[in-house]
Amino acid sequence: MKTPKIYLGTDSGATTSKIAAIREDGSIVSTKLLQYPTDAHKGPAAITAAWVRAADEYMTANGLDWDQVNGVGLAIPGPFLGRGILGKTANLPAELDGWNVGKDYAAALSARAGRPIQLTVGNDGNYGGVGEASVVQKLGPGSVLLLAPGSGLGAAYIDANGLPLDGDTFTAMEAGHMPAPLQLLNMPVLNCGCGRAWGCVEAYTTISGLPQLLREFLKKFPDHPLAASTAPDKEKVLSLRGLAQKGDELALAIFDFQGKVLGLHVANLVQALDPTWIIIGGGLMDLESTTEEFRQRYLNIVRDNALPFCWPTQREKLRFSAASLGELSQAIGAAQVARITALA
Ligand SMILES: [Zn+2]
Repeated sequence: MKTPKIYLGTDSGATTSKIAAIREDGSIVSTKLLQYPTDAHKGPAAITAAWVRAADEYMTANGLDWDQVNGVGLAIPGPFLGRGILGKTANLPAELDGWNVGKDYAAALSARAGRPIQLTVGNDGNYGGVGEASVVQKLGPGSVLLLAPGSGLGAAYIDANGLPLDGDTFTAMEAGHMPAPLQLLNMPVLNCGCGRAWGCVEAYTTISGLPQLLREFLKKFPDHPLAASTAPDKEKVLSLRGLAQKGDELALAIFDFQGKVLGLHVANLVQALDPTWIIIGGGLMDLESTTEEFRQRYLNIVRDNALPFCWPTQREKLRFSAASLGELSQAIGAAQVARITALA
């Protein structure tokens, strides 16, 4: 009997890594979330050894074998100096600056498997988009725009073949740092951590800008308990999502506003990318922390603010969907890129 092939995905964070596997037909082996220590502070050799060990454990837990592995994908935060070569990042130790992670991980995987293993490396946000795209593209073909407001604005564009737009310096789709159409918002220019003073969309749609947004909205809700609260900014803004689920008017007004800005940004990006699918992810779509009613309200606001600015043919074609893979999207996306690359 021919051994069924699989593709592994490694999603590397600074402290933990996740592993996923998919089959040759693109179906997901397991959606159970397993996390493994990354050991980032111990240096390159320890990190690749930890990833291989994690893959070992994952495959044992799922009855898989290295003989079946036909390719591996690695999702890792940028920036990159070249394909598979890490640049300087605040999230990882300074000694990893310039590390050719692609070469070293491929060598470690090949040593473990006893034969050459093909590895693809990419930006974790883009690979997360690939994971989510692989779900909706089974429902209908077409390219995908993913926007995931969280601490920052995750953004990815996935083509109709399922592969991400990386760009020539691997920084394509940093779409959170494009300007919002301020003339439509009646809101001052908010500061953004990137330093651009042109009103980055990220500041109007994510947790990063929420303290500034809350101060603006409290002018309209001076009697709200948060106006008198002496709690730290971070605590106040992190309470808003929970308040909104209970119908708090201030919290709902803020998220409605964020949804409006995100919708306008969808329209902006549709002008450039002309996708079929719009996937919204991030904390406001989190199944455990939000109600179905809240998620639908937010998605509707995004759609209703986007469509008037799209071309008539796009208005008919565009399909809006909530992200569905949660924390596994990047590991699954990495495995999908490995599969698509191997089959190309
Ligand atoms: Zn910015």
